[in-house]
Amino acid sequence: MPGHLMNTYARLPLALTHGQGAWLWDRDGRRYLDGLSGIAVNTVGHAHPRLVAALSDQIGKLIHTSNLYEIPLQDQLADRLCAISGADRAFFCNSGLEANEAAIKLARLWGHKHEMDRPEIIVFERAFHGRSLATLSATGNPKVQKGFEPLVEGFVRVALNDEAAIREVAASHPQVSAVFIEAIQGEGGINPAQADYLCFLRRICDERGWLLMIDEVQCGTGRTGKWFAHQWAGVRPDVIALAKGLASGVPIGALLAYGEAATTFGPGQHGTTFGGNPLACRAALETLSIIEDEGLMDNAQRIGRWMQEQFRRQLGGFPGLVAVRGAGLMIGVELDRPCGVLVKQALQEGLLINVTQDSVIRLLPPLILRQEEAEQLLAILVPLIQRFLAADQAAA
Ligand code: PLP
Repeated sequence: MPGHLMNTYARLPLALTHGQGAWLWDRDGRRYLDGLSGIAVNTVGHAHPRLVAALSDQIGKLIHTSNLYEIPLQDQLADRLCAISGADRAFFCNSGLEANEAAIKLARLWGHKHEMDRPEIIVFERAFHGRSLATLSATGNPKVQKGFEPLVEGFVRVALNDEAAIREVAASHPQVSAVFIEAIQGEGGINPAQADYLCFLRRICDERGWLLMIDEVQCGTGRTGKWFAHQWAGVRPDVIALAKGLASGVPIGALLAYGEAATTFGPGQHGTTFGGNPLACRAALETLSIIEDEGLMDNAQRIGRWMQEQFRRQLGGFPGLVAVRGAGLMIGVELDRPCGVLVKQALQEGLLINVTQDSVIRLLPPLILRQEEAEQLLAILVPLIQRFLAADQAAA
C-alpha cells in the first residue's frame, strides 16, 4: 500500500499492535517471538510493568521542558551513565546518528584545539554510524552513501582488526584526531573488534594524542552481557556513543566523554531541542535499573552463550554455515549465500529476525528473553536454516 509515506523502507506486510515480554501480536491476533527488539531497542521487552508505570507517571507530570532550563532527570541519568562507564560527562540527544554526529564534531574540535586545521577521523570498512551526511560518510557501506555525494570529507577508512593499516595511516596522515569504531559492528554483519585490537587502538591513541571513540549504539546498554561491549576488552575509551536500547524504545541518544574530551564542547557549540527531555531520561533511568535489578546482563550472557553453542552444534555439519559470531544477545549466523528469504519464512512461523549484509542472520532479542523462549526461537529458526541450506544444495 503506497499511501503517503515516502518510499524509504521495503516493509514487511506486518502491523504489530501490542506486546508482552518477548512476544508481539499483529492485528489479526497472531503471536510472534521477538528475535530483534526493534533492532536492539526494546531492551526490557514489551510492556514491562515497571517501565509502563514509570512512563505513565512521568507523562502525567512532565514530558518536555527545554535545555534552556535545568533538567534534574538529565543530571541523574548523566550521573548514572558516568558511574557505569567511568566517563566524566554526558550529552543527550535523540538517536544513534545524533550521538555519532556529536562524536564527529567533538573529534573535529579536538583536532582544532590541538593545532590541526583539517582534522581527520579513522573509520572502518563495513562500519555503520547512521544516515546523516557526516555519519553516512563515516559509514563503510557504498549502498548507504550512493546518491548523496559529495560526502563529508575528513574520514580515512581502514579494515577492521588490522593493526598494520592503522600504523600506515599514522605514518601518512599527520592530522588524525580520532579513531571511531563499533565495539561490535552490527549492520556490518556482527563483526567484533578483537579485544587485543581495541587494546592496540588504546595504546596508539595514547601515543599519538588521538581520541578513541566507540560507537556502542547497537552493542551497548547491557546487550553483550556487560554495560558496554568494549568493557570485555578492558579498554577505557575517550568517547562513547549510545542510543537504541538505552531507553527501551523512547528515542534517546547519548555521548559520554572522559577527561579532556569531556570538556571539549563549550556553551553554544552543540545542542538539540528534544535531547535529554524528562520523558526520555526517565525511560533510560528505569531501563538501567531494570537491567540491574533483574540481572539482565547475566541473562544475556548465559542465554546468548547457549544460543551460540546450539547454532554451532545443530548447524555445524552443514557446509553452508560460515560462522556464528557475537556476544550476549547480539548474535550473527553467517551463511555462505544470500539468505534474506529466511526473514519472511521466519515471520510465517511466528518469529521476527533480520538478515544483514545479505548473508548474516542477525538476532537481537530483548534482554529479558527466557531460556524456554530461546529454545522456542532455536526450534523455529534452526530447521528453517537447515531446510534453506539443503534446498539450495539440492538445486545446485
Ligand atoms: N551506530 C550504530 C552502530 C548503529 O547500529 C546505528 C543504527 O543501526 C546507528 C549508529 C544509527 O542509529 P539511529 O538509527 O538511531 O540514527
